[in-house]
Amino acid sequence: MKTLLLTADQTDKAAEIIKRGGLVAMPTETVYGLAADAFNGQAVADIFRAKGRPMDNPLIVHISSLSQMDRIVREFPEKAKALADRFWPGPLTIILPRSDSIPPEVSAGLDTVAVRYPSHPVAQQLISASCPLAAPSANLSGSPSPTTAAHVMSDMDGRIDAVIDGGDCEVGVESTVITLACPIPRILRPGGITAEQIREVIGDIEIDPAVIKPLAEGQKAASPGMKYKHYSPKADVILLDGDDEAFEKYINEVMDDKTAALCYNGQQERLSCICIAIGEKDDYNAYAHNLFASLRKADEMGCTKVYAHCPRKDGVGLAVYNRVIRAAGFKIISLQ
Ligand code: AMP
Ligand code: MG
Repeated sequence: MKTLLLTADQTDKAAEIIKRGGLVAMPTETVYGLAADAFNGQAVADIFRAKGRPMDNPLIVHISSLSQMDRIVREFPEKAKALADRFWPGPLTIILPRSDSIPPEVSAGLDTVAVRYPSHPVAQQLISASCPLAAPSANLSGSPSPTTAAHVMSDMDGRIDAVIDGGDCEVGVESTVITLACPIPRILRPGGITAEQIREVIGDIEIDPAVIKPLAEGQKAASPGMKYKHYSPKADVILLDGDDEAFEKYINEVMDDKTAALCYNGQQERLSCICIAIGEKDDYNAYAHNLFASLRKADEMGCTKVYAHCPRKDGVGLAVYNRVIRAAGFKIISLQ
């Protein structure tokens, strides 16, 4: 199939493709999403095929108005309304009891459904011109999520109907996922909306242990997406836990001409390997914004190893940690 590259003002054309049951990659404020009509089980099944995504990993339904919630969820409890009021439109996904109108393909047969109201104007226009959209990230399953239309094309050209080019995604990592379908709300995936911000609105929440640790053998994942190796470039990613001096010394000792480092601005002059700067020191918004693009860049440059600083585990740092630790297959070298 030929994949059309559409401009941001061609959402009407994209909406026609969606209404016909086709697949369109759209920009959002987090990463590019691969969208289909959320009420069309056949179209949703095509998303899994195009990505090579395991069928037991459910998708997020994207809306452009709260009035659409009625058809998607069975209940919209007060805590969920408080979160929606504070963080929607924006990078927060809320898991709630699923309405029967949502086909089982979307939720991978679960009794719950994940919903998000994105803030990106192009995503909103596309949803308003078509319908609520089921969408995972628009990458081949397992590879780093796409934050530009070029990343989407590199994975999906020939596999989907169209890509809308909306430029760079602002946040750069996927939405925060919280489930309210349990007694104490629980973060299943950290993202641009932090645990600290959520606590300010609804009080006590838990963070699922699988956010920062691998699942134990045989352990059941609260979010099926936690099971899979994720976000990985072809190069090996290795996290280094230690201060700047130890980081630089270690890399300069082990590097070869195919070694890259994700470093902060100014650190390049002390590293002798290929350097991919990701922003100012300790700027975790920049680390999130540039992480996936940098991992893809390392592959484009033919690097076989990518060293990265081990992020902090609070604020947006937790979202970066959650992605980079999976990209690294949980490999951390302690330099303390
Ligand atoms: P992606 O759209 O690729 O960013 O992935 C969506 C994430 O949300 C995955 O990690 C899913 O496992 C998770 N998710 C979606 N729906 C549910 C649900 N009903 N229950 C638990 N996790 C979900
Ligand atoms: Mg994904």
